[in-house]
This record gives sequence, C-alpha cells and structure tokens, in this order.
Amino acid sequence: MFKSAYLKLTIYYVAIIMLLSISFSVIIYKIATLELNQGLNRQSRIFRELPGNNFPKPPNIDFENIQLEQLKESQNNLKNQLVYLNIIILLLFSAISYFLAKRTLRPVAEMVESQNRFTADASHELKTPLAAMRTEIEVGLRDKKFDFNNAKKLLNSNLEEITKLELLSNTLLNLARYQEQVKLDFYEISLEEIIIEAFEKVESKAQAKEIIFKNKLDNVVIHGNRQSLVELFVILIDNAIKYSPKKSIININISKEKNKVKVSIKDYGIGIKSSDLPYIFNRFYRADQSRNKEKVDGYGLGLSIAKEIVELHNGEIKVASSIGKGSEFGVVFRK
Ligand code: ADP
Repeated sequence: MFKSAYLKLTIYYVAIIMLLSISFSVIIYKIATLELNQGLNRQSRIFRELPGNNFPKPPNIDFENIQLEQLKESQNNLKNQLVYLNIIILLLFSAISYFLAKRTLRPVAEMVESQNRFTADASHELKTPLAAMRTEIEVGLRDKKFDFNNAKKLLNSNLEEITKLELLSNTLLNLARYQEQVKLDFYEISLEEIIIEAFEKVESKAQAKEIIFKNKLDNVVIHGNRQSLVELFVILIDNAIKYSPKKSIININISKEKNKVKVSIKDYGIGIKSSDLPYIFNRFYRADQSRNKEKVDGYGLGLSIAKEIVELHNGEIKVASSIGKGSEFGVVFRK
C-alpha cells in the first residue's frame, strides 16, 4: 500500500523539479541566444565599419551567412548541453525524491503499522474471554446431566469473563480518550492529596499482600487534572504491588527540585529486564516474567495510559529497574 504512495509522491517531487528545471533551461536558452545574436551583430558591425586603410577587407566574405551558421552551431551546442543537464537532473532527483518520499511518509507508515498492531492486539484480547465463554456454554449445552448447580457455576464463570471484557473495554476507551489529547480541566492541586487518594484505591490489594509502605510526602501544589493524576498514580502503585512479593516494601517519595517536582514509586519486586525496558510503555506490551510463572493479571495497557497522562501534564516519566531487585518509576512535573 505504501509502495504506490512512495512512487506517487516521488513522481510529484520529480514533476515539480523538472518543471522548474525545464522552465529555467528554456529561459537560459532564450537569453543566451539573444545575447549571442546581439554579440555577433555587434562583432560584424565593428568589422564592417573598420577603416579600409588599416585592415584591407577580405573580398567576397558573406558575413551574414557566417553569423547565421555560428549562431545555429552555438544554439545546438547549448540545446544539447541543456538536454544532458536535464537528463542528469531527472536521474539524480528521481533517486533523491524517492528517498525523500520515503522519509516524508515514514511517520505515517509507522502510525498505520502501530494502529494495525493495536487493532490486532485488541481483537486478540477480546477474543480470548469470548472464546472461553463459548466453550463453556457449548460444553454445558451438550451435557445431558446439566443441572441447576452446573448452570450457576457456568453463569459465575461467564460473569468473570464479562468482568474482564468490561475492564478491557473501559481501559481501551480511557486510552483512546487520552490519546485524542482531550482538553482536561487543570486546577492547582496538592500532590500529596492525589497520592493518598490513589493509595486508598489500591489499599486492599496492598493489605492482601501485606506490603509495607514507607512514604516521604511533601505538600507540593501543581497545576493538573485531579482525576487523571489519581489514575496515573493508581497505575504506578498498583503495578508496584502486583510485581512485588508478599511482605515487601514500597517507597513513595515526593521531592522538590528548583522548578520541578518529582514523585518516585520504588518497589523491591521482580524488576524488569533491560531488554524489556524500552517497550514497557507500548500498548499491550507485557514483559515475559509477568506472563509466566505466577501469572499476574493485566493487559499491558496501564503504562501506556500513564505515559499519555504524564504527557498531557507536560511532564516526564522515567524508569530504572534491575531484574530481581526492583523498579523505580519517577514522574517529573514542571512547576
Ligand atoms: P500490565 O497490565 O501488564 O501491568 P502495564 O502497562 O502497567 O501493564 O505494564 C507493562 C509491563 O511492564 C508489565 O506487564 C510488566 O511486565 C512491566 N512492569 C510494569 N511495572 C512494573 C513493576 N513495578 N515491576 C516489574 N515490572 C513492571
């Protein structure tokens, strides 16, 4: 699909260049012929007007004809040179234009590719619970001894899958909303309050794993959108809990630096392989260790939403991690 677009754009570029080059060549040709003609006229006039006693005039020389031949020869030479020049320009600029067309369309091609990947990943995630539900229902229908208790079990299991689908569709809608660069309402808000609100939302998960929080919060006020910032820190604290072993420690710090504020969430959990680090903010990306062994639930969308929220706040999100030792996610806001 993009090959024909590259070619079309190359043809447009080359057409523009050739139009300019041919127009200039015609102008150069016209001016040069005119100048040449005038020069030759001047030359023959001077020659004709030379006093006879200084230079004896050669007899029977047809100045008009010589002048015309000279003009024709020079015109032909010039024409040939301009044609060669235009052929060279055509070849050279065809190659350059193809390269430039590829460069111009690269971001669009990448965007389309990422959109296709996203659609494929999203369909895959939607298909999995639907397939599970279909199998359970089909097995149930085929079972002749299917009673009320089995029906209840089946409905409960279907409900679980529906909850997963709901979570996925809500997450996708959320991501789409932030990617559209929605205009969020910004107010002066306390970062400490935001962190506490986010923490309260995941507190029960932390308690279930007996995680200990050691926080150093400072009451710093920033300009931001409350709801999305709470969502951002829920994602980061929730991940810290999800990827930490039982009874481990999580540190949340707020620190001020000149005109910046940094919030860091540090865990001592499974950590992230350095080869995975460049991709963890990509949509649907999950590092292997979160898929294997004790499977941790998730769709690999949390960090991409987190990144969108941070960017909507003109901030920066960074991660430092070491496998088996833990991870530290830092969010920097400009004050
Ligand atoms: P998920 O739903 O899988 O948690 P995220 O987008 O939030 O999706 O994270 C992407 C991946 O980054 C995770 O699957 C996990 O492999 C890795 N990751 C994120 N946070 C942490 C963390 N605190 N410790 C270890 N790995 C993490």
